[in-house]
Amino acid sequence: MRITALHNVLLLAAASTLLGIAQAATLIHAGRVIDGVGDRALTARTVIVEGGKIMAIEAGYRKPGAGDTVVDLRESTLMPGLMDMHVHLTSEYSRTSELERFKKDGPDVALDGAMYAQRTLMAGFTTVRDLGDSFLASLALRDAINAGKVPGPRIFASGKSIATTGGHADPTNGWAEFLGGGDVGPRDGVVDGTDAAVQAVRQRYKDGSDVIKITATGGVLSIAKNGLNPQFTEEEIRAIVTTARDYGFTVAAHAHGAEGMKRAVRAGVDTIEHGTFMDEETMRLMKERGTYYVPTISAGRWVFDRSKEDGFFPSIVRPKAALVGPQIQSTFAKAYKSGVKILFGTDTGVSAHGDNGREFVLMVEAGMPAMEAIRSATSVTAKFLDIDDRLGSVQVGKLADLVAVPGDPLADITSMQRVHFVMKDGVVHRRP
Ligand SMILES: [Zn+2]
Repeated sequence: MRITALHNVLLLAAASTLLGIAQAATLIHAGRVIDGVGDRALTARTVIVEGGKIMAIEAGYRKPGAGDTVVDLRESTLMPGLMDMHVHLTSEYSRTSELERFKKDGPDVALDGAMYAQRTLMAGFTTVRDLGDSFLASLALRDAINAGKVPGPRIFASGKSIATTGGHADPTNGWAEFLGGGDVGPRDGVVDGTDAAVQAVRQRYKDGSDVIKITATGGVLSIAKNGLNPQFTEEEIRAIVTTARDYGFTVAAHAHGAEGMKRAVRAGVDTIEHGTFMDEETMRLMKERGTYYVPTISAGRWVFDRSKEDGFFPSIVRPKAALVGPQIQSTFAKAYKSGVKILFGTDTGVSAHGDNGREFVLMVEAGMPAMEAIRSATSVTAKFLDIDDRLGSVQVGKLADLVAVPGDPLADITSMQRVHFVMKDGVVHRRP
């Protein structure tokens, strides 16, 4: 019976396509729509989805025709699929992370990634930038999701991030020599000097990366003493940026300390990640150059909270987490006020996958209006990724990446942590 019914539907769909008759549509009855572009929410709308696209948006709640499906979101707010510009889908930090690096092979990491990708999608994030993996697992995951093999967000991935010897993201930091803690080179994303820097970018092109990630300063979670110091010369970063442009890559720079941040901005990177000790001169430079800031307040808050627990972090990491963690939110507040361009990003993979929505709460807490925070994760990010012709807003003709939260996030931003409807490319992955 079921096969027959399915057959009929398929035949009908094929016939109506041939005859040019309208196919069955999904009608979303939305109590409120935040379209990702406008200043105000629209109320009582029907968003009509057909063939993976938004075909129409009508005032009121349209009655379904034969074969149409209705999604009742009259008590909810519908918005564009959310975008997180800084995640690490193939890992999640824990008390045992250091040990796990010696136990997990590529397939383990890739399967973890598939699980985390699904959690991310279920939390309403239909597009992400993955800024650093191991075994190039994020690239395989991206391709598997695009091919419909596993559910997950669209991924723009860096693959292995580029570091300098002993710096943040040198994959062998803290390892004994006999376990592989020797020298590594551009292939594994470790460079010293401009020639190696150029080679590392070209290797990322060969790997199939979408974006280049560098670690311009020390970092919190690496097994190394300094979390803030500059770790690239300006010439090295310039070599990376210049080469990246040849291949159409943008460059994302992890940076906590101001000196490394300034070198990265002057050398022409596109985004500063974390930006913890960003000073006024850096903000001025960023505004001048049009450099975006990806704050990742969530990660700061998370490492600060964990730094209070005995034994959670290796002893060399704990003081860095205590220092860097609480600073990010106040830096974000200053940068936002001074007019630095903001892209929503969490560094999830430090904190737990699926908790990405907490960043909205932390942004609003720091003084950004809720509507602007939502735009920073929708139309603004879509424009940055150069996909705004098809994504980032609820508008006729756009791909149907749509999510909803109960109630009104403009009145209660915590509702962004309770996404209960997720559609990607017109396919429903979660419903209330
Ligand atoms: Zn990160």
